[in-house]
Amino acid sequence: MLKAIYPGSFDPVTNGHLDIIKRASVLADTLIVGVCGNPNKKSLLSVDERLELLKEVTKDLRNVEVMRVDGMLGEFAKKVGAEVIVRGIRDISDFADEFQRAIINKQLTGDVETIFLAASPENITLSSSAVREILAFNGNLDMFVSEAVKNKLVEKIEREG
Ligand code: ADP
Repeated sequence: MLKAIYPGSFDPVTNGHLDIIKRASVLADTLIVGVCGNPNKKSLLSVDERLELLKEVTKDLRNVEVMRVDGMLGEFAKKVGAEVIVRGIRDISDFADEFQRAIINKQLTGDVETIFLAASPENITLSSSAVREILAFNGNLDMFVSEAVKNKLVEKIEREG
């Protein structure tokens, strides 16, 4: 039984993340989508809002669980019994960062492996920061996020400015 964890900020979850979630959920028996809150990074959505949206967009995927990641990723993976960390790679700069993280996580944990899934071609230029920028200019988000995510973002901007 393989348990994997796909960690990220998901601020907000995009169609690129969702593609990785779907593909990783086929490879693992259980996939945990882990929401990391970074206190040094200013975020659009709170961790609770990101958890709520991820639960909504993954509700039809039976073997996917959504959790908040507390503390160091490697330790968290061990705590929940995940043998594998999944990361998505869009380009060579993602690869450079992810390669380093993978080695450090392996050094810290001893046995938690990282696997990389290449982004699907239609998502190669898609990022949460691009979505936040389009939102700030009232642009059309339909191609980049699911309906539930779009509605939540629009509602948040209308409410909080
Ligand atoms: P981070 O907080 O490390 O920047 P994100 O929350 O943006 O990470 O993304 C989590 C993971 O998903 C990372 O491995 C990232 O490379 C990957 N990812 C982000 N956007 C896409 C995309 N459009 N297609 C495939 N993978 C992606």
